[in-house]
Formats: sequence, C-alpha cells, structure tokens
Amino acid sequence: MNYPFTTPPVAAETTASYIARLAEENGMDEYLVLSHIAHVGYLHPIRQRGWNRHDFALNPLAAQRLAAVSGYPLDTLRRTLSFRHLLVSPQSPRDIPIAQHHLLKKVLRPPWDVAAACPKCSAARGLTTRPQILLDQNRLVCLRHGFWLADQPDGRPLELERCPELQAAVRRFRRLRRKDPERTGKAFSAAQQIWSKYRYGANPHTMDIVERIWDRRSDSWSRSPRHPSLTLRYPEIVALTDMICSPYWVKAAAQPFIQRSSYHPRNARKRPDQMDFLLELGRRMGHPSPEFFSHKASSVSAWLSTIRRASGHEKEQIDWRTLVRAAPR
Ligand SMILES: [Zn+2]
Repeated sequence: MNYPFTTPPVAAETTASYIARLAEENGMDEYLVLSHIAHVGYLHPIRQRGWNRHDFALNPLAAQRLAAVSGYPLDTLRRTLSFRHLLVSPQSPRDIPIAQHHLLKKVLRPPWDVAAACPKCSAARGLTTRPQILLDQNRLVCLRHGFWLADQPDGRPLELERCPELQAAVRRFRRLRRKDPERTGKAFSAAQQIWSKYRYGANPHTMDIVERIWDRRSDSWSRSPRHPSLTLRYPEIVALTDMICSPYWVKAAAQPFIQRSSYHPRNARKRPDQMDFLLELGRRMGHPSPEFFSHKASSVSAWLSTIRRASGHEKEQIDWRTLVRAAPR
C-alpha cells in the first residue's frame, strides 16, 4: 500500500531519517510508520530512548515493506539509504529485535558519523525537513555550497569561506584523494586517530603550542564545534595524511633519529629521518617553532618510534601501510 505522499531518499541518508521524513510528509506518527515496516507494534524500547539515536537495519521483508509504502523501488532505497551498511545481527548487544528479527535497531556510533544534509541542497530538492546523512571522510562538506557539514551546533553548517585553513585542507584532501583514494582514505583514518589522541609529552604542561592552535581556531570560528577532534584538527589531520601519502616522507619515517650534535657527513644517507619528518610536519602545521615540536617526546613522535616494530620484521619494506598500522586505535 502506497502512502499518499512520497519523498525522495537522499544519498547516504539514514534509514531512520527517511522513515521520519516519510511520516512527516504524510502527517503520520513516525512510530506508526515504523510499525508498518516492522510489522509489529512492539516499539517500546525505541519510544523510550527517542528516535534520533537510532538507525534501522532492515531485513529483506522489512525493506520490501518500506519500498511498498514509500512508492520508491527497493533498488533505489538500497542504493541511497543506510540500511545496507547496518548488519542485522541478533547477537549484537546494541541491537534489539523488535519484530521477530524482521527489523533491528542500532545506536549510531558517536561522535561524527551523522549530520544534517546541506540546507541548500535539501531546499533545492523541495525537502521541508533536512535529511540526516551518514558522514564519512568523503562527505564532510558540500562543495557546491561551500558548507562544512560535520559541525552544526545551532543547525547552521560552518561556511568554509569563513575558515580559510579548513577550506585549504578540504582542497588538499580532495587532490590527494583523486590521486589515490585507497591510500588517502586509510592515511586519513590513521592521522585522525593520531591527532585525536594527541598528547604533548610525558611532562605536565600548560602551554602546548599545538593545543593553542586548536584553541585559537575555535575562538576565531566563534562557535564550539560538537566534534572538536575532527573539525578543529582537520588541517593537521590532512597535513599528516599528505605526508603518509608521500613516498619521500614515508622513507624518512622509517629512519630513526640521528642526534644532530653527533651528526657526521657519513650519516647523510640516513637523512631524511624521523626528526626531519617531525620538523616538516611542524612547518606544514604553521607551528611557530617546528624544531621545538620535533624535539618534544609528544604522542606523534611516540607513533613514529613504533614504526619499526609495527613493520613486524626489521628487513620488511616499510611503506605507507606500516605507518597506518602503527597508528593508535
Ligand atoms: Zn549543498
């Protein structure tokens, strides 16, 4: 049975968002729509915990019912909506069967994997409610309208134009991705882990310059992002991604430090080394004293020092994958 009004599914939209929009379009209670799709009325856990914290994995029968009520072909829904990414696993403690395994719910993983779609793109499609989309590193911005989508604390996305550092990093990431999507994707995930776990060093401190860079950025954007580890650090994440994608800097990362005080021309073949790597990273970040950054035993140099171990064997060729594997999880 078709509902009287249809609404188009949007690329990467969460299934929960689509069901909610379909309900709104038809002036129906969203739990009623869900019960039509799940085919039972036991929705108590979802009612109790609220709608927005869930997404829904649909088994084939539930997916067919969604296609029937929405008026969109199953293929289209499968191509656009999130349910194909969600595993239907009755064993998972985060899934609760609500229809004899016809439909399960899953709490979305924080912190930055869902955001409202670009307001201008939504308006252009005639949507009255902005769909919630699954975010990933390739979907953080709307390039057509220049919006950063990952952070919109007051419902308004950041305008890239007002954040030149972020805009430059977005462009840099796109160029890298065009050259080698797989390497760039994995390097980005590793770089994000490294910066999200950033520690200045072993000693207590109050004045770390890297953290001051992030604080200053937060002030100049005059809003506090919901996902600071991603948005505020994005320029550093891309700077490090860039270096992990560079064969020259990967080679440097494989060479342990040489004490510059005992430096001798015969060691020249061992340069560039890990210290050169850190100096360069500091420079690319706009660190006012990259030599200071490279000398401190921060979590970034701790990551570099595990690279030999991560390669498994001393003689094994160290490549970008070694750097990615060595990133903290
Ligand atoms: Zn847009």
